[in-house]
Amino acid sequence: MTEPTDSIASLRTSFDSGKTRPEEWRRAQLERLKALAEENEDAIAEALHADLGKSRFEARMTETGTVLAEIGHTKSHLKAWMQPKKVSTPLSNQPGHSRIVYEPLGVVLIMAPWNYPVNLVLTPLIGAIAAGNCAAIKPSEVSPHTSALLARLIPAYLDPDAFKVFEGGADVSTALLEERFDHIFFTGSEQIGRIVMTAAAKHLTPVTLELGGKSPCIVHGDCDLATAARRVAWGKFLNAGQTCIAPDYVLVHESVADAFIEKLGTSIRKFFGKDAKGSPDYPRIISERHFDRVAGLIEGGKIAIGGESDRTEKYIAPTVLTEVDPEAAVMREEIFGPVLPVISYRTIDDAIRFVTSRPKPLALYLFTKSAEIQQQVIGRTSSGGACINDVVMHLAVPELPFGGVGPSGMGAYHGRASFDTFSHARAVLTKSEHLDVPLRYPPFSGWKLKALKWLQ
Ligand code: NAD
Repeated sequence: MTEPTDSIASLRTSFDSGKTRPEEWRRAQLERLKALAEENEDAIAEALHADLGKSRFEARMTETGTVLAEIGHTKSHLKAWMQPKKVSTPLSNQPGHSRIVYEPLGVVLIMAPWNYPVNLVLTPLIGAIAAGNCAAIKPSEVSPHTSALLARLIPAYLDPDAFKVFEGGADVSTALLEERFDHIFFTGSEQIGRIVMTAAAKHLTPVTLELGGKSPCIVHGDCDLATAARRVAWGKFLNAGQTCIAPDYVLVHESVADAFIEKLGTSIRKFFGKDAKGSPDYPRIISERHFDRVAGLIEGGKIAIGGESDRTEKYIAPTVLTEVDPEAAVMREEIFGPVLPVISYRTIDDAIRFVTSRPKPLALYLFTKSAEIQQQVIGRTSSGGACINDVVMHLAVPELPFGGVGPSGMGAYHGRASFDTFSHARAVLTKSEHLDVPLRYPPFSGWKLKALKWLQ
């Protein structure tokens, strides 16, 4: 493996040249990224199918389409985001004026996972471009077709002096993490997030960590059960459950638990037919290693729906578990696969206690018509984001910052939050040379202290 040192140094030279700062350059790169996504939609869909068995629809909805929507939103707000923001200046600094100037950070590192291997490389990259940075990009080696495609397309479309792709596994990541970056944007597991943060600390590099966790979904007795089941089944089995904000498990009110599971079954059959293995719309598990882990989790409960698997095809059926052992791995680790434990609760307090006694998740979902219960659950729990009466969709609101809290991550992106993540908000005070009030200069005679107290 070639050392990344020279490549990072060349990115720094490009950044120092100032070429990435003008709005026109940023716009041109966003246009090129749009062309990359549009002109190669077929090749991208094929790579995603080869890596994950994603359908063309899912590839468009959750990968290229999401990227194109983010580019559109960024282009239409870029000018406003780049404007310095005037703030008021107190009397003690008059005559003068104060403003916040948004400057690029410099050379940033973007490290991506394999589950949405296009979206999770390109969406952070949009923020890095918008804020005027150069970037080193590390796709996941676990989705090799997509990684190879991005390694070919990014230098062909974007300014190769400003963006470089590094393909490979932990060895490549480790070598990259030796380098000094101005920001590291990492999406992946909690375990590797710790490695990234430790490496970043050596250079005092700030990090954004987009991690995972067990996102709960509370289904209360008063909701429209068919809609809740349909939306939960969609969000859980999208990408065969390999989604960071998929509902990890469901807490359902005991009065509707059986009916909810029945309706989950109806939705699964409507989506994928009697045997999901034959459905062109149902993806596969990324690798045999991941298959073994997810298949093993099924043992943690009683199979209510699904449970079938085929290792040669890396297929695991949409599976619903009941009578789940709270100590089993399926309730301890992030599932990240098509297995959904359903646990019933008696009171909303019980459900809230269940959630708050566990680490803060990346997302929390709640289905209820009751404004009071909505208020209670949102007010007494914490999660990176939340969605009421739906799942996953909060991610598609560009004005909402997307990120975790506590062990589910730190920092956020999407829309303005991306621009802020990749910018430094620099405080600039400009003073007039006229009128130099002598108050702050020694000697500090008696009247000065009185005047200071009056001013402060
Ligand atoms: P991962 O942590 O294994 O890998 C992420 C990146 O780290 C990859 O580029 C990988 O090459 C690199 N890496 C692997 N080993 C490394 C090491 N020893 N040192 C340095 N870098 C190393 O994560 P994954 O399996 O690709 O993705 C699954 C996880 O990502 C899940 O926990 C999921 O919840 C999370 N995720 C979070 C989000 C989000 O937006 N918050 C989105 C998708 C996935």
